[in-house]
Amino acid sequence: MALNMENNRKLKNAYLGYNTNNGIRKQSSSGGMFYELAISVLKENGIIYGAAFDTDFLVKHIRVDSQEQLKRLLCSKYVQSDMKDIYVPLKNDLQAGKTVMFSGTPCQVKAILNYIINNRLSLEKLYLVDFICHGVPSPGVWNSYLRYISNNKKISEINFRNKSNAGWHDYYFHAKYEDNSQLNESHELNSYMRSFLSDKNIRPACYECQFKDEKYYSDITLGDAWKIEKEKPKWADDKGTSLFIVRSTKGNQLLQRGSRTFIFDKTDYDRWKEYNPSIKSSTAEPPERKEFFEDFHEMKFGQFWNKYSYISKKAKIKYKLKSFLRVTGTQKIIRKFVK
Ligand SMILES: Cc1cc2nc3c(=O)[nH]c(=O)nc-3n(C[C@H](O)[C@H](O)[C@H](O)COP(=O)(O)OP(=O)(O)OC[C@H]3O[C@@H](n4cnc5c(N)ncnc54)[C@H](O)[C@@H]3O)c2cc1C
Repeated sequence: MALNMENNRKLKNAYLGYNTNNGIRKQSSSGGMFYELAISVLKENGIIYGAAFDTDFLVKHIRVDSQEQLKRLLCSKYVQSDMKDIYVPLKNDLQAGKTVMFSGTPCQVKAILNYIINNRLSLEKLYLVDFICHGVPSPGVWNSYLRYISNNKKISEINFRNKSNAGWHDYYFHAKYEDNSQLNESHELNSYMRSFLSDKNIRPACYECQFKDEKYYSDITLGDAWKIEKEKPKWADDKGTSLFIVRSTKGNQLLQRGSRTFIFDKTDYDRWKEYNPSIKSSTAEPPERKEFFEDFHEMKFGQFWNKYSYISKKAKIKYKLKSFLRVTGTQKIIRKFVK
């Protein structure tokens, strides 16, 4: 029975969509599909497990049973999430007959599935949701960056994907401090985001990810529809659009349960594999990773981040040019024609 359910995840029905609630869409990394699915489960007294910041801004999986707490799960946290505290509560919830939705990376979904099967629990009331994953950054590197930016002040908020400054494509890294001061940097200039997006700070296993293409174990996979301009220009409002792939009959049921604040439409899976390569292949390990981690272990954290904050003149000019094109609206036109 359990194995059948595992092998059953063979659908690849791809959709594009966005949440018509602008507030939710703004707080979510993509189009707010995660919120849509989670809220439908909560409304039927179900439980959600997902990644949240703790009080020190480290990332861990938590259990959520109310709409109020659900806000803690919204938006991508670009750090490996610690799952150790959720296995037992999740098992207890399933044994108590509750509907549970788990959300995490494709490898975390497989870990949960293995745990359920090893404990001979029923999968009937468990929905597994993952996302297209580029790789998860090292918690050690995140910890050191937190020390670097805290600068003896207490941080009160962090957002890796702030859409408020320049929209969804040109998102900002945002940190707010208790004294109300802020750090607001484009992801292209922020040193932590650059170490993530240049693939240097992710875990070694991510370069040989075993959960790509045909090997997803979730019911639904979420992602960013970055090339929305090409498929549905009318939806390209730069507020965030979700790509999602329904992989099982259960995934389909979960989708149908959603409230109708989420608008979606079918799309071609194979084309999105080309637009969003992390669906099918692992991130390649960059040659600079070795030096990055040698420096990380050998240097003091301030010295390390000062070194990796350096931005070449060429990169600065490129960024300024991009900002100019965005502000003048020219960038939208270019995106339509350039892949
Ligand atoms: C490390 C990482 C890499 C990603 N790489 C890609 C990529 O290459 N291509 C792509 O299209 N999309 C990628 N995504 C997914 C994308 O950023 C969105 O999370 C996804 O599209 C869902 O967006 P949403 O608007 O529906 O919901 P959101 O509200 O943005 O999603 C929230 C959900 O994401 C989960 N989550 C957030 N951070 C973590 C974490 N650190 N570990 C485990 N679960 C987490 C939460 O549990 C929550 O369930 C990545 C996300 C992360 C965290």
